[in-house]
Amino acid sequence: MQTHILGFPSIGKQREQKQALESFWDGVLSVDALSATCTELKKRHWRIQKDAGLDYVSTGDFSLYDRMLDTTCMLGAIPERFTPCLDDAPADRYFSLARGNVGRNTAPLEMTKWFDTNYHYLVPEIDADRPWTAGTHPVVADTKLARELGFSPKPAIIGPFTWTALAKAPRAVRKWERLDEIVSVYAQLLADLAPYCDCIQIEEPILCTELLPDDARPRFREVYASLNAAGPKLMLTTYFGALGGNLQTAVGSGCAALHVDLVRGRKQLDAVLGALPGGTALSLGLVDGRNIWKTEYSTALPLVERAVAALGKDRVLLGTSCSLLHCPVDVTEETALPEHIRKRMAFAVQKCAELAALRAVVENDGAEAAAARAAAQPAEPHPDRYVAAVRERAASVTPDMLARRSPYPERRAAQAWLKLPPLPSTSIGSFPQTDAVRKIRLDYKRGRLSEADYVAAVRREIRDCIEKQEQLGLDVLVHGEAERNDMVEYFGQQLGGFCFTQNGWVQSYGSRCVKPPVIYGDVYRKHPMTTDWILYAQSLTQKPVKGMLTGPVTILCWSFVRDDLERSEVCKQIALAVRDEVQSLEKAGIRVIQIDEAALREGMPLTRAEAEIYLRWAVDAFRLAASGVEDSTQIHSHMCYSEFNAILSWIAEMDADVISIEASRSGMELLDAFTDVHYRGAVGPGVYDIHSPRIPTEEEITQLLRRALRRIPKDQLWVNPDCGLKTRRWEEAWPSLQHMVAAAVRVRAEA
Ligand code: GLN
Ligand code: ZN
Repeated sequence: MQTHILGFPSIGKQREQKQALESFWDGVLSVDALSATCTELKKRHWRIQKDAGLDYVSTGDFSLYDRMLDTTCMLGAIPERFTPCLDDAPADRYFSLARGNVGRNTAPLEMTKWFDTNYHYLVPEIDADRPWTAGTHPVVADTKLARELGFSPKPAIIGPFTWTALAKAPRAVRKWERLDEIVSVYAQLLADLAPYCDCIQIEEPILCTELLPDDARPRFREVYASLNAAGPKLMLTTYFGALGGNLQTAVGSGCAALHVDLVRGRKQLDAVLGALPGGTALSLGLVDGRNIWKTEYSTALPLVERAVAALGKDRVLLGTSCSLLHCPVDVTEETALPEHIRKRMAFAVQKCAELAALRAVVENDGAEAAAARAAAQPAEPHPDRYVAAVRERAASVTPDMLARRSPYPERRAAQAWLKLPPLPSTSIGSFPQTDAVRKIRLDYKRGRLSEADYVAAVRREIRDCIEKQEQLGLDVLVHGEAERNDMVEYFGQQLGGFCFTQNGWVQSYGSRCVKPPVIYGDVYRKHPMTTDWILYAQSLTQKPVKGMLTGPVTILCWSFVRDDLERSEVCKQIALAVRDEVQSLEKAGIRVIQIDEAALREGMPLTRAEAEIYLRWAVDAFRLAASGVEDSTQIHSHMCYSEFNAILSWIAEMDADVISIEASRSGMELLDAFTDVHYRGAVGPGVYDIHSPRIPTEEEITQLLRRALRRIPKDQLWVNPDCGLKTRRWEEAWPSLQHMVAAAVRVRAEA
């Protein structure tokens, strides 16, 4: 039985890749030095895999910036606007695509989430039928190097169907018509790899979604027939879910091996075994590439045994569910975690060892097997992970706790006391995080600032923020979030059941890494988390100040979540903690409260059936958090991702009094959907694109508001930016908000 991983994180355990990239961009590091650092990292990661006893080491998993971009460059699918960059040095050209070229005023490729993960890839653009000039793919040189160093490389490449399905194209361009051309470049790539490897991992995660168009699916068999003829054995690799309706397509590919995700798609094993053609090998994705916990052998072993019984050992491989890109590098770096938590964790390095141990157990390989079996004994539930009061409270949630006292129209009347003008203006929460603001938090964290001095410094920021908003003439004010480093971490640090790693970094995109909080135990609120700051802000103004909370679904989606309790249950526990905070705010006199659910849309599973189940418990969690207040208290929610037409009925189900959404780039067209479902709550479509340094004019915003009014009745419309302003500078935010308020005043006066 062979063992392998689908990919190792490239960042390095001390984020060496990040440092090298950023020094290169700053002009401090030469391109040769950058590439030397990358080569060191690759070699180190191959060594880890080989030392763990894996049969292959992964190549092609390491990218300077992004693997989708590497594929785009190989195909030569460079959008027209980059033509002036084509004569630049290769690294400069590459990074212009990734990050834009300021000197030439060229915008980068768009970035979006890789399926339902927190990794962002660069979206390919197919812009009419301009000829492409195929280039090279870094996987070839890396595979050659690995072979020369005596490793047994398995190159990983993103497959042509996934690349094309994720590419965006103007409506007039029929992107699938370029498939033959794309496939011929792939065939060349496979031939180039052939001298250095005997198996290639060709990834088609699109098969675990419903995104493959019906007219493309029939071409799968023929395309893969030609690719199978082009080079070494192919392992058709799927992940992030079950194959579902695409099972026949996958097994009909004629590839020598198929990889399936048995973590997200555990239930698919029997169907896959039943459909797999004779002679095809099956790689079982058993070790979770997206979480930080040790593999439960009691779950994994029966799956292996079933596969071995059906196929025989020679046709079974053991692997990770997906690339280890989505988990941190090495748990031995975590010296500050409580032992009872740390001993349950496995990061990328440990997951490689787990695969070897799993094989030893299956093959009943003496001492190693005994050790692994002993480790497989279910650990005693630690008292810190199981809090009886939390369990009891979660179990006794009643349906009435999920509903506000009265329906929206009555609440609306009860909220008239707020005396807001038509088209009330507000912001989404954060204000510019200046260097001064960051320094306050850092000095406090490093012990350079006493608690009292820290509070005084944050209060000065809050006072300044309130004064600015008064001057701007906004109607509902915020405290500005100066005390928050991150909207999830801030709450995680104060809640029971959370812990934080020192080095648990995961790549988010390019050189950017995040360190998600870890939910290891039952979640509960220990004390009020935001009331002091918000009350202080409210004490400075006659206008209402909006309490600012992160919602349960977003806290869940942006954390590593324990694997011994259903996600829906964990979410419910968080919802109860947020509910406590909402009630504390109300009791303290804060009567407008925003609960951000920035991640609601992106946390959606990849298939409709699973999405429905998720949306039910996710929306219920929001309702549980939000519903414990009087009718006269106004609940807001905010969501970032604008593509939610399909889930608008669920957004209505959230039953917030006011929602704000990202909308400025879509020119208010997305509001059509609100008209269609007769959305009755208040809506604040963003009228200021905060992702850009551009300052929108008063005229532009006025136009957007007039357009919004064609879709949303005047008494339902709010005026706000797309999202929080923390990434902007005051020089941009200030005039933009001035224009926004002026536009609101102007449109308010019209008819
Ligand atoms: N309240 C948060 C902020 O303004 C919301 C951020 C978000 O939606 N991502 O920063
Ligand atoms: Zn947002």
